[in-house]
Amino acid sequence: MLGFDLREPPSVESVLVDFHTHTLASDGALAPAALLDRAAGRGVARFAITDHDTIAGFLSVRGHSPQGLELVPGVELSCTWGKTTIHVVGLGFDPDAPSLGAALASLDAARCARAERIAARLEARGYPGALAGARALAGTSQIGRPHFAEWLVSAGHFPDTRTVFRRLLGQGKVGDVKQYWPTLAETAATLRDAGGLAILAHPLHYRLTRMKLRALCADFRAAGGQALELVNGRQQQGDTDILRRLAAEFGFAVSLGSDFHRDGPHSADLGVDSGCVGDLEPVWARLA
Ligand code: AMP
Ligand code: MN
Ligand code: MN
Ligand code: MN
Repeated sequence: MLGFDLREPPSVESVLVDFHTHTLASDGALAPAALLDRAAGRGVARFAITDHDTIAGFLSVRGHSPQGLELVPGVELSCTWGKTTIHVVGLGFDPDAPSLGAALASLDAARCARAERIAARLEARGYPGALAGARALAGTSQIGRPHFAEWLVSAGHFPDTRTVFRRLLGQGKVGDVKQYWPTLAETAATLRDAGGLAILAHPLHYRLTRMKLRALCADFRAAGGQALELVNGRQQQGDTDILRRLAAEFGFAVSLGSDFHRDGPHSADLGVDSGCVGDLEPVWARLA
């Protein structure tokens, strides 16, 4: 079919970037250095490790980026908005800011307490030994539901982690314990106080109605949130279009990330084409 594209060429230079990835320090499979090597090997120019509620992975490779790859401080913070758990990606903060350190220490304690609560609920459902099992799998990593899922699979209770999340750990299920996180506003303030940018991660993953999603965006903006994630991993074009309109409506800049945890049939590899932001503002333009 013949066709003419009369749109303006994209205003953002086309390079690979990735501002949402996980390592062994939370629920990813790769060590931070191996993740950086992989990103560099794929030609990613700007990159962030955004582990859940910890910057230990980032700190372990800070200053050791492979040539051609710029590593930006990053984190993915858990918080609550009403009854919904929301993830906020933080970028470009001062990793040594005492306020951030205090917030991360309290998230670490919250994750440990929550793990005990999850385990108690699983025991009551007939899965004893969950705490020891998940702790052993987590090791020194930030413990989370994926470690419980992995243990339940390795103990032979379920065929795969997707099934565990669908039956026991996913949103609204018995193992979805959420009252441990700070609020969205507190989280945005933590990042602002540390000189960082606050980005609403994967806005379409929370399964909110359109009205609630817009209320979330309004609250996030009021709290000082600056951007939303336009691309998170493998994503339908229709979802990108919805997010593009949402960003424009709320005046948000946009971020891009693979949300890479490990290789798998549903996972995206590292690196997102920066050109896809089109005429929206790339949030990384605000990084020093
Ligand atoms: P947590 O940080 O403990 O609340 O666990 C959330 C993490 O679990 C997410 O970051 C994902 O990596 C993983 N996760 C969430 N939902 C699913 C799912 N349906 N299947 C597999 N993993 C999931
Ligand atoms: Mn995760
Ligand atoms: Mn997330
Ligand atoms: Mn993530």
